[in-house]
This record gives sequence, C-alpha cells and structure tokens, in this order.
Amino acid sequence: MELKAVACGNCGAPLQVPDAVRFLNCNHCASSLEIKHTESVTYSEQIAQIDERTERIEQKLEVLELQSELARLDSAWQVTREKLMVTNKRGHKSIPSKVGAVIGGVIAVLFGILFTSVASQSPVGLGGLVFIALGLFGAATGYSKANAYELAEWEYQDNRRQIQDRLSSARGEQPALPWTNS
Ligand SMILES: [Zn+2]
Repeated sequence: MELKAVACGNCGAPLQVPDAVRFLNCNHCASSLEIKHTESVTYSEQIAQIDERTERIEQKLEVLELQSELARLDSAWQVTREKLMVTNKRGHKSIPSKVGAVIGGVIAVLFGILFTSVASQSPVGLGGLVFIALGLFGAATGYSKANAYELAEWEYQDNRRQIQDRLSSARGEQPALPWTNS
C-alpha cells in the first residue's frame, strides 16, 4: 500500500494517506477531509462541515429577518388601514364599501328626483337637483375610497404572501399553497 504525504487542509498536520483513500478524518484536529489530486500535487480540503454550519446560521438569520419584515409589514398595514377607513358621524371607523357607496348614491338621487317632481311648481323644487348632485358626488367619492382600500389591501396581502413563501423556503418547507394561506 502506497502512502502519500498530505497536509491537513484544516490544521496543516502532516498525514500519511493511502493512495486509494479519498475521504478521511485528521487525527490532529478531527476535520473531515477530502483528498484532491491535480496533475502535479495532492492536497486535502476540509469538507462541507464549516460551510454547513455557516449555512445553518445564515438560514436562521434569514428567518429572523423575514419574521421582522413580516411584523413591519403588518404594523404598516394597520396604519394605512386606519387612514383608508371611513369615519361615520358617531366616530366609528369602518371599511369603505363599493356597494354601500352605490346604494347611498342611488337613495340620494331617487330622493332628489322625488323632491324635484313633487315641488316642481315652486322654486324650491330646484333644491332636488342639489340632492342629485350631492348623491352622485358622494357615490363617486365613496366608491373611489372603497377602491383605494381594496387596492391597498390587495397589495398588502400580496407582499405578505411573498414574505411568507420566502420564510417557508428559508425554513426548508414547501411554499404554502394559496388556499392554505390565511
Ligand atoms: Zn487537521
């Protein structure tokens, strides 16, 4: 059996390695080594171990980072949400609704039409047109507020899903399926 003199790739200790051996542990530092040959030299290189450990730490850091990114996103959404909600006369906040805006507009316009036709003989009848105008304006405003809320919420959910997918893969899980996402 022919022995080759190779230095440990980790601690540099001189090792006598049988020719056929490719993987070994250094008796001095216990590193797992791989023997590598080139045309002119034979040397040893420490295997994965350290890489693996570093990778695991990096993975943990990435998970922590993503978790705090998720928390930041959630609290930013709470702030945005508050701003986009509508406040009623009693000071209660609610999510603006497209249907609500349309119904409100229709009621105001119908009332305006009714008022105009009932009071058409008097100059007050023109007041009905104001109702119609206000009704249309209110509906348009309400509708666009509801739309802004929907868009912002959609964007938030989309960002959240992306972070959660990255989090799953950083944890080494399969990415969550869309229908199992909360
Ligand atoms: Zn060694």
